[in-house]
Amino acid sequence: MKATIFDIERNSYVDGPGVRTTIFFKGCNLRCAWCHNPESQSAKPQMMFYKNKCMGCGKCKEKCPNALESCDLCGRCTLYCPQDAREICGKEYTIDEVLNTILKDKTFYENSGGGVTFSGGECMLQIDFLEEILKACKKNGIHTAIDTAGHVPYERFDRILPYTDLFLYDIKCFDSEKHKQYTGVGNELILENLKKMLATRKSIWVRIPLVPTVNDMVEEMQKIKAFLKTCGTPEKIELLPYHAMGEHKYSALGMCVQKFDAPALDIVAELNSYFN
Ligand code: SF4
Ligand code: SF4
Repeated sequence: MKATIFDIERNSYVDGPGVRTTIFFKGCNLRCAWCHNPESQSAKPQMMFYKNKCMGCGKCKEKCPNALESCDLCGRCTLYCPQDAREICGKEYTIDEVLNTILKDKTFYENSGGGVTFSGGECMLQIDFLEEILKACKKNGIHTAIDTAGHVPYERFDRILPYTDLFLYDIKCFDSEKHKQYTGVGNELILENLKKMLATRKSIWVRIPLVPTVNDMVEEMQKIKAFLKTCGTPEKIELLPYHAMGEHKYSALGMCVQKFDAPALDIVAELNSYFN
């Protein structure tokens, strides 16, 4: 069994408690306008070309069996580019390959209360692999977290509940029409699943990406807070202020980027105060 993964980040401190290894699965069923990992969206491996790094030496074309005309992702050009301007994003991994990487940092997890986080993209789209790797992690005593946007059938949560210690669950905006406008899908299924998940009393951290002009309003936070009140108490609510660090990846993939400003610190502090 294999999964397509586009990045494995060791020594991460951002996706759950303690020192973590984060596994980024490729493929997503949302298209958030502010996504800082656009390479996560397509389920298939892709070529990324960083034009700003290219010095035009022509080695890639010379070595490419197709003279750069139609790429079959063989990877030869990446080996010969002196500037690292070409990169294949996404690779298939077996359970053992992923598990062995996770286990390398077991001592750090134990000393810091950390573990592994499966993220993406939407890791729950590759549910068969996800269930097996979670089981393998639990067998090895590793703390497990899932980072999800929640837009999947609830049965998938049922399948992984016994092997998952923590869910990082996004609410992007409360109004479904607006949600659809900025992510490509309405939020009914997402909120319904969150309600069911909160009823299980599992550890859940609700995370809200804070994006100016989309959801950085008091009313938005009030609606989310009121919704959460009706269905349970997450262990934590985190606001994740928008940043533009993924912008260069859009052009490397030949995609258009929608620009947003970073939220002002005083707005972030004010909106945070609604939850803490
Ligand atoms: S990955 Fe292979 S086929 Fe694609 S551009 Fe590079 S050398 Fe050519
Ligand atoms: S080998 Fe690299 S630097 Fe040279 S032309 Fe190709 S992408 Fe540009």
